[in-house]
Amino acid sequence: MDLTTAGADIDRVIVTAPEIQARLKEIALQVEADYAGKNLLVIGILKGAVMTMADFVRSLNCHVEMDWMAVTSYGSGTKSSGVVRILKDLDRDISGRDVLIIEDIVDTGLTLAWLKSNLQSRGTKSVEILTMLRKPDAAKVEVDVKYVGFDIPNEFVVGYGLDYDEKYRNLDFIGILAKEVYS
Ligand code: 5GP
Repeated sequence: MDLTTAGADIDRVIVTAPEIQARLKEIALQVEADYAGKNLLVIGILKGAVMTMADFVRSLNCHVEMDWMAVTSYGSGTKSSGVVRILKDLDRDISGRDVLIIEDIVDTGLTLAWLKSNLQSRGTKSVEILTMLRKPDAAKVEVDVKYVGFDIPNEFVVGYGLDYDEKYRNLDFIGILAKEVYS
């Protein structure tokens, strides 16, 4: 869905569809160079990272294997606690693999910190993180995010995989919801 259709529900566009695609192409070139000669396994985190994963792997000019995980973070309100439960685990053994986690957004970073150490405990050769968006609070947590699409302000965003009440995931851009939608 584009901005013309989403219209009044969106207060402000943060990242446009062409900006997303251009940035993913830049990151893909970096990843190709960093993983040259390696057998890369990318792990998308459901459901938010579906769009990033789909467009990122199509930008990559090298072979790549894909798997998916779904996790839920217990928390009060909109903030995660860092206590994570796996809803869908990987389909395969990842020991000895070079793994790249694909995430939609890093807010507190607690979910990713847990995920990274969980995957490292499975005997992986390396675990790195790619996120489309990063909020300022992410800097407070000791989780090293190697590839970042865009640093954004500390506001609730939707689109390009990110939802509000399961809607807006199919926007082709990222924006801030209008207040009327919440009330
Ligand atoms: P954290 O980094 O705080 O552990 O949690 C990250 C998760 O919180 C993301 O995967 C996403 O599901 C959710 N989240 C954080 N900020 C936003 C936001 O601005 N919009 C949406 N839709 N979800 C968010």
